[in-house]
Amino acid sequence: MGRPVTGGVGAGRLLVGRCRLAFGGGPGSLRAMADPVIGIDLGTTYSAVGIVEAGFPILLADEEGERLMPSVAWFGPGVVKVGRAALREMAEGRLVRSAKRQMGVRFGEAPGACLPVVRASEGGMAFRTAEGEVTPVEVSRVLLSELKRIAEFRLEQEVRRAVITVPAYFNNAQREATKQAGEEAGLEVLRLVAEPTAAALAYGMDKLAERSRVAVFDLGGGTFDVSILELREGVFEVLATGGDTRLGGDDIDSVVLNLVARKAGLEGPALEMEGVDRDRLVREAERVKCELSREESAIFRAPFYDGSRSLEEQVERVELEGGMDSELATMRRICREVLVDAGMEVAGVEAVVMVGGSSRLPVVQRLAGEVFKQEPDCSQHPDEAVAIGAAIQAGILAGTWREVLLLDVTPLSLGVETLGGLMNVLIPRNTTIPCKVGEMFTNARDGQDSMQVRVLQGERELARDNWELGKFDLPFRSAPRGKARVGLQLSLDEDGILEVLARDVEGGGPDVIVKIESAAVDVSEEAVEQMVEE
Ligand code: AMP
Repeated sequence: MGRPVTGGVGAGRLLVGRCRLAFGGGPGSLRAMADPVIGIDLGTTYSAVGIVEAGFPILLADEEGERLMPSVAWFGPGVVKVGRAALREMAEGRLVRSAKRQMGVRFGEAPGACLPVVRASEGGMAFRTAEGEVTPVEVSRVLLSELKRIAEFRLEQEVRRAVITVPAYFNNAQREATKQAGEEAGLEVLRLVAEPTAAALAYGMDKLAERSRVAVFDLGGGTFDVSILELREGVFEVLATGGDTRLGGDDIDSVVLNLVARKAGLEGPALEMEGVDRDRLVREAERVKCELSREESAIFRAPFYDGSRSLEEQVERVELEGGMDSELATMRRICREVLVDAGMEVAGVEAVVMVGGSSRLPVVQRLAGEVFKQEPDCSQHPDEAVAIGAAIQAGILAGTWREVLLLDVTPLSLGVETLGGLMNVLIPRNTTIPCKVGEMFTNARDGQDSMQVRVLQGERELARDNWELGKFDLPFRSAPRGKARVGLQLSLDEDGILEVLARDVEGGGPDVIVKIESAAVDVSEEAVEQMVEE
């Protein structure tokens, strides 16, 4: 027997909302894991370490609360400092930066290094620091040891296994050197993961169709890397990759510095002179560059840069962009080559994922947009995406990463008003959508030939205390009280769109279908919470 439906009043807002519930644990304190596997992004400029905790990838912060560690090491007398602690020391020929650029590189082939270099064993190279010679592997080892220490500090347990990311184009020697550094740091390197694969993992497979192709555009501090990956059977495969190990934010810092020198009427070598703290000038150039990603102009200031003279020059964003012609041309060329190597047209690229600190430069985002003929996706944290992906890969290997199940549910119950102004729930709150529920109703009065259907959402017993999503009149064949048969069906699709189907079952009239098309919640979350609580 159906329930009687009476009329209702009052206009309302559409409020078919959606909320996402993530199963697999929420954020909480870190729990000890049997034998954790950490994911490490060993970057040219910054490094980070992460882990999958309770089903979510997270980055582990150091004691200062920082998740990104500058990839620098300072070799002092009998002491080595890493990251921010290293930067607080006077460089004085003891600070090694961007060692990744020299990983597995032979002496003589080494790109410009931060310190003088010497030939080391097996044809490799080493940095000549005030404390003696240090190979890139040794520098990487101290960086990795520090990341391991941070992880152990946060997890409060020993960490022995890791996944480390490397640029996709790293050759065998470079990969071996990275692995060796990890092992020397006391880590069993379970896998070396290509950085674009890690970035694609962080971007998320859930955003892509079963078989799709994405481009990962990664412009970091010292390297540029473009890769096209294909997602197939839940796994990303690098189809083609290209890059330039000597193109990155550092070069753009040089563009800024040269621009400033030119504006100040200085010759380039004037800044290379004895007594000039070049490191300080480069840091100021970097600061100006970053500011130009947000502002149209910025001021470069270097008081007493050589002990007596000072520099103060305004730099415009357009000037910086103009000075980057050759870097931009290289990026454009590499992107096109990678497309050709992948045997693809731009139309086949589903998404362009932007990562790397320098992808924040507006001109770089524009370039990616132009080349791939689509708006690039800048939704990932440019500095953290690779580490997040490394953490996911580590979680996959450790068995702690379960594809986090994201289910869409209705945040509030859905129903209709019945006799006595009551709320008759058809779809209870937290029902997984899509869903479909039907119920029979009957007439409350003799001779009644229509009823008003008020669709409501809320948790209160009385209809008037809930929100009205919509209302409509449903005519049916006049019948004595309790004899009419009206079927009502509420269906919610994946997008939270509610469809109400009403049918005069007894009288056989046409179906009335009302679509309540809004996924927008016009009510504050607090109001929803309050209602649920009450
Ligand atoms: P990564 O190697 O990915 O850590 O990137 C580091 C590079 O990103 C450095 O050269 C930074 O100067 C650069 N970078 C960071 N923030 C910005 C910004 N807001 N605008 C331009 N470049 C940036």
